[in-house]
Amino acid sequence: MIRTETIFDKSHAGRMGIKLPPLDVPKCKLDDNLARKEKALLPQLSEFDVIRHFTNLSNKNMSIDKNFYPLGSCTMKYNPKITERIAALEGFTSIHPHLITNNMIDDFQGTLETIDMLEKTLCEVTGMSAFTTTPQAGAHGEMLGIMMIEKYHESKGNKRKYIIVPDSSHGTNPATAAMVGYEVITIKSDSNGAMDYEEFKAKMNNEVAAVMLTVPNTLGMYNQKIKDICALAHSYDAMMYYDGANMNAIMGVAKPGDIGFDVIHINVHKTFATPHGGGGPGSGPVGVNDKLKPFLPDLGIKKVNNKYELTEGGEHSIGKISPFFGNYGISLRAIVYMTTLGANGMLNASTKAVLNANYIRVRLRDYFDVPFDGLCMHECVLSAKTLAKNGVTAMDIAKYLIDFGMHAPTVYFPLIVKEAIMIEPTETENKETIDIFCDRMIEAVKLAQNNPKAFQDYPKTWGVCRPDDTRAIKELDIRSKH
Ligand SMILES: *Cc1c(COP(=O)(O)O)cnc(C)c1O
Repeated sequence: MIRTETIFDKSHAGRMGIKLPPLDVPKCKLDDNLARKEKALLPQLSEFDVIRHFTNLSNKNMSIDKNFYPLGSCTMKYNPKITERIAALEGFTSIHPHLITNNMIDDFQGTLETIDMLEKTLCEVTGMSAFTTTPQAGAHGEMLGIMMIEKYHESKGNKRKYIIVPDSSHGTNPATAAMVGYEVITIKSDSNGAMDYEEFKAKMNNEVAAVMLTVPNTLGMYNQKIKDICALAHSYDAMMYYDGANMNAIMGVAKPGDIGFDVIHINVHKTFATPHGGGGPGSGPVGVNDKLKPFLPDLGIKKVNNKYELTEGGEHSIGKISPFFGNYGISLRAIVYMTTLGANGMLNASTKAVLNANYIRVRLRDYFDVPFDGLCMHECVLSAKTLAKNGVTAMDIAKYLIDFGMHAPTVYFPLIVKEAIMIEPTETENKETIDIFCDRMIEAVKLAQNNPKAFQDYPKTWGVCRPDDTRAIKELDIRSKH
């Protein structure tokens, strides 16, 4: 068990944080069944004790504002504070979603304009012809995309059976396919880390509804055959699904719609800057080309006589995927971020993200195994398997880094790489920080060779050393035992 000092440990009988003014209204009696039988056990502290306690607790968290955070596939970039300031404006925060109806539409023109801006900007960035901002996370967007594809085939009188994914895919891709009711065909990766084209060709058939690809994939690699894959899938009238969680390598450089994709979801909380550690909040807008436009979900906007109105889905719409306009506050941050950067800023961000990842790959490739070496995109994947002979694992490296004030990279993913360490530095880190990280990684390799047992003690400075990860999730117990 891990025990850190709780606020009850600091309690001191009689100490007070607040002082109430004298009673100046008539006393009233609570119903007996509402009143407590025993006095509530509350910690007794001064205001200052409380502030210090919670400030110290907050400092035990790793966060992008405090720490280098190269968590692969998560795009933990700096989130400019201007996005928070705009999203906190009262005109945006005080709207109740139930008020946004066609009856009261005059009062919400500004809100709807921001949604329009986001949809149009995402169309521009991705080359798609329409967007919906209603899905509330990447995985939610995937599900919407696959539901629209299902409806597309149904509208042609076809019920298709399979979805193709490569073995490097993010777990949400096969999960989404299965949730919508498809069987999954998994294609192995070739020596370049791309979906094996020959195997794909052999397995493609006219019962395949869609091919789901993450681009660049979770190995950080761009598939050189991507246009051939799109052409082959389309020759069977299968749809091409683009998992756009990794847009941070692509924005401003290439457009998925131009490449040949039919539908895309974007993790705006990753690429377009919303703090999203700890599982939320997110937003997963979905873009489609003309083929899939009729299947977009309910709730959209259109401009009639210079005024925005709400629209319902057409006769082929898949219906409602989400109440209201999804996580509107996240959409708002995304549009602030995109307008602040502009087209050149986005190009600059993605090219620097790619440069940073390649710098790390090249600095570390003499120390770690690089299973798919060659130009990577926004992240690089190393393997710690060469340290196995010393009894040191990817997890040991991850725990070691924590003591140097760095969040660990993603480990043990993608699943096809043994002892994977997946590093995504993002564009917002400078060379000094990246060099410190690389130095620590190299020192870790040397420590593994000279004194592998030392790893058992890391991290030493955070109060929590090596909890049982599975139990910590399944039997989390954070109650005070007083
Ligand atoms: C993060 C991610 C997802 C899932 O997105 P959520 O917003 O967490 O649901 C899907 N695919 C890839 C490649 C991702 O990195």
